[in-house]
Amino acid sequence: MTIVYIIIVAVGLGLVPAFMAGRQGRSFVKWWIYGALAFPAAIVHALVLNPGHVVKCPFCGGMTNVSKGYCRRCGYEFM
Ligand SMILES: [Zn+2]
Repeated sequence: MTIVYIIIVAVGLGLVPAFMAGRQGRSFVKWWIYGALAFPAAIVHALVLNPGHVVKCPFCGGMTNVSKGYCRRCGYEFM
């Protein structure tokens, strides 16, 4: 039964990098599999995917990377 337990834990842990990558427009399923198979590598990889700070645009409400200086969706400029 140990192997079943390990698989359940791996699948659960794999959701963490999957959500992180998914928020940045990456494939959720691919990152979930990646996270389940190699969780330490996937979590580090997901963290360095986008070094910028993702914020909600005050103008259009879309998620955008503030390091670009403007919103990708509507062009709103951040201070
Ligand atoms: Zn915007």
